[in-house]
Amino acid sequence: MTTTSEPEVAAQAGRALVYRFGDGTSDGTGEMRNLLGGKGAGLAEMSRLNIPVPPGFTVTTEVCNAFYAAGRQYPQGLDADVRAGVAHIERIVGAGFGDAENPLLLSVRSGARVSMPGMMDTVLNLGLNDVTVEGLAERSQNPRFAYDSYRRFVAMYGDVVLGMERDPVSDRDPFEALLAAKKQARGVELDTELDAEALKELVAEYKAEITEQLGVSFPDDSWEQLWGAVGAVFSSWENPRAVVYRDIYGYPSDWGTAVTLQAMVFGNLGDDCATGVVFTRDAATGERRLSGEYLINAQGEDVVAGARTPQPVIASASADYERSFERAMPDSYQQLERACATLEEHFKEMQDIEFTVQQGRLWILQTRSGKRTGHAMVKIAVDFVEEGVIDRDEALRRQSPEQLEELLHPVFDQDVERDVIAKGLAASPGAAVGRVVFSADEAAEWVSRGERVTLVRNETSPEDIEGMIAAQGILTARGGMTSHAAVVARGMGKCCVTGCGSLKIEYQQGRFTVDVPGQGSVTVERGDVISLDGTTGEVMLGELPALDPVPPEEYDLLMQWADDARRLEVRANADTPADAAKARVFGAHGIGLCRTEHMFFGDDRVLAVREMICAENEAERREALAKILPMQRDDFSGILRAMAGYPVTIRLLDPPLHEFLPTDEPELLEVAEALGITLEETERRVAALEEFNPMLGHRGVRLAITFPEIYETQVQAIIEAACDLVAEGVDAKPEIMVPLVGMEAELSQIRDLINAMARRVMDERGTRVDFSIGTMIELPRACMVADRIAEYADFFSFGTNDLTQTTYGLSRDDSSRFLPAYLDRDLFTRDPFVELDRDGVGALMRIGIERGRSTKPDLQVGICGEHGGDPSSVEFCHQRGLDYVSCSPFRVPIARLAAAQAALSED
Ligand code: PEP
Ligand code: MG
Repeated sequence: MTTTSEPEVAAQAGRALVYRFGDGTSDGTGEMRNLLGGKGAGLAEMSRLNIPVPPGFTVTTEVCNAFYAAGRQYPQGLDADVRAGVAHIERIVGAGFGDAENPLLLSVRSGARVSMPGMMDTVLNLGLNDVTVEGLAERSQNPRFAYDSYRRFVAMYGDVVLGMERDPVSDRDPFEALLAAKKQARGVELDTELDAEALKELVAEYKAEITEQLGVSFPDDSWEQLWGAVGAVFSSWENPRAVVYRDIYGYPSDWGTAVTLQAMVFGNLGDDCATGVVFTRDAATGERRLSGEYLINAQGEDVVAGARTPQPVIASASADYERSFERAMPDSYQQLERACATLEEHFKEMQDIEFTVQQGRLWILQTRSGKRTGHAMVKIAVDFVEEGVIDRDEALRRQSPEQLEELLHPVFDQDVERDVIAKGLAASPGAAVGRVVFSADEAAEWVSRGERVTLVRNETSPEDIEGMIAAQGILTARGGMTSHAAVVARGMGKCCVTGCGSLKIEYQQGRFTVDVPGQGSVTVERGDVISLDGTTGEVMLGELPALDPVPPEEYDLLMQWADDARRLEVRANADTPADAAKARVFGAHGIGLCRTEHMFFGDDRVLAVREMICAENEAERREALAKILPMQRDDFSGILRAMAGYPVTIRLLDPPLHEFLPTDEPELLEVAEALGITLEETERRVAALEEFNPMLGHRGVRLAITFPEIYETQVQAIIEAACDLVAEGVDAKPEIMVPLVGMEAELSQIRDLINAMARRVMDERGTRVDFSIGTMIELPRACMVADRIAEYADFFSFGTNDLTQTTYGLSRDDSSRFLPAYLDRDLFTRDPFVELDRDGVGALMRIGIERGRSTKPDLQVGICGEHGGDPSSVEFCHQRGLDYVSCSPFRVPIARLAAAQAALSED
């Protein structure tokens, strides 16, 4: 190796160049991420906790910086420290680096202070050469394994360290080409069918290829290999991928990367070896018990790849009892149990731990906080609080508002008989009903035709993501609870059943068959409907009825904590008594938006509504409205009753009238008859109502300026309903809201109209009700003149759907044609109709709030656009001092939690 004598490293506070770990000791700590990288710091910490990590050492990020400062030369003293580090590993493992009989193999990995997945380089199995490979073959009693490792090492080293290039014409990796040629020559299809002899030949061929392409020979000396790999990892800090990644995330180049060298451990040296993944709590239910899977005589990726279905870690009452890790390797299991307890206690969080047993000895390879279902997320956090591990605020901070949605997903009715044709692993909860498709493309295509589908695969891979997103549920024949399908589906909160071994899929024919006890072979064709139960793992033919979900017992307590922590009120957007009742169950404190137009569409009233619209004079219109009045009164009565004691914001009619118009001849005839006019006359009146741009046309308050009797009738219905309820002793709290106001004069006129009608009704009924009058703020001008509008408003409610539309000039109806392109090209990170645009729409909101409150300091301000249920938008509303957010009933719990998190993030 080359060294530099420049004093740059010594100048760095005399810190060591190399930090060792393993055997219950370590030179570093978990705090030293900047110096040791995330990985090195994590290993140091685990070793300190006496967790049996494969021993190793980390070359610091300072050495990396010194390496660059000195023109890619290693600092003085590094050689001796690295040799001492290797000796440390040799002592613990009892093997020798370069030793012919018992060779120590190393992994060499990069590690920046933050994880940069896949950006920098890694070399595995370092230390193999023609001599040590024989030692490995002998010790493992498995020459095929030894030569396969050797072959992979030469290829990896050739690519990463020596810089082998792909074929410029075919873009093929040269080693892959040689492997393919070897399989062809041997007449086999799979890598695993090549024997030790063939793999040995491949090693020689790989090396010859290196010499031919690069003019150098492959280094056989283990130490030369080591220095080459360390240099390559340092150099990979400046590779184009890593540089671009750092630019995107704004990471400075002088962070540097550390290099961690660690003993390789193998779970595939025989039947006293195993590898697995364990969660310290049940990742599906959150129960306080270990859960996880392992495979005997396997490598880590075999567990997650899904090619073999793994066995459970814990012995259960099932048929897998004897094959569980607990039973098969009881000593290692006990050690694992202790390590799990230590790690969970230390990190105060449920851990996802990778382990390997090599010839009876347990090694922990990695720990991180574990992914979990929404159900488990709630239960684990509440349990941790009750166990005294974390406090309530921390429990709330740990919730993902989006994941809560899973708890709100339907489950199949247990009482309905099931025609179960197969059973797999309950990988991700939920109930899915859909037509069977066999590929991601098929899934996307069927869904674009309006079908609901279930994606059925032997196993899934990242290419299937689009199909998984499109599908209602995912069913795989292979793979366990930690397979790709399971992990991805759980992350999406999507129903998934994996490892359904009885499925025989024939992709070509577009079908699968299963042997069902008592029924024989059952064939399910592409397009047939199946139902998947992600909570039991059962697969049923046909469509099963689904029921509302049952959240964990801890859910109510957690939501109570959220309610205690939040400042924002949460209301629901609901237009029917049934939705209002559901909103109450979900914890809404009132209705923030009751859109009255939905009531106008009812079968029993649309004719009256059409008569009203097609009326040519006030008298005709009033006649039609008189028919609508009692129906509206019933609507409002039902909603106000369901929300007794809470405010109900009723918005007066908003949409352009043409939305209700008759479209076909029978409908036109019906209206003609009701109005006593001809068909031609009806057609003429309908045509006259047509608008070029109805969204900016005759809608909202403009309807009431031209046809005041429409709002008068609605107000009459509201106040009559409220008076009747109050007389009954029901606490009805209507808030009357005027849409699409852009000028204070609009609101002042309509306010007079509302007050006059309300007074009239109350006098007639001899009852008084408390009601307020407010406006939607959904036009930029309304924000700008909010101080003047506030003179006539008791409250503001931001209609951010229209405000987004009018601020961006983006049509709510048409923008979906080009929005995907904007999202693809990163012009938007999220759809602005989903996540509030803080810079534009948000700035207008700020002006609206400030100006409105400058007139009325206690002006009530809320939001009722779709953004009211989006966690990031809820945070913004909290920060801007709104009084409440209002969203669809199913999103109410999400908004409650997001509001609590927003309040906590201020502390
Ligand atoms: C809005 O514009 O944000 C709103 C809530 O009203 P609508 O969606 O009914 O136009
Ligand atoms: Mg609107």
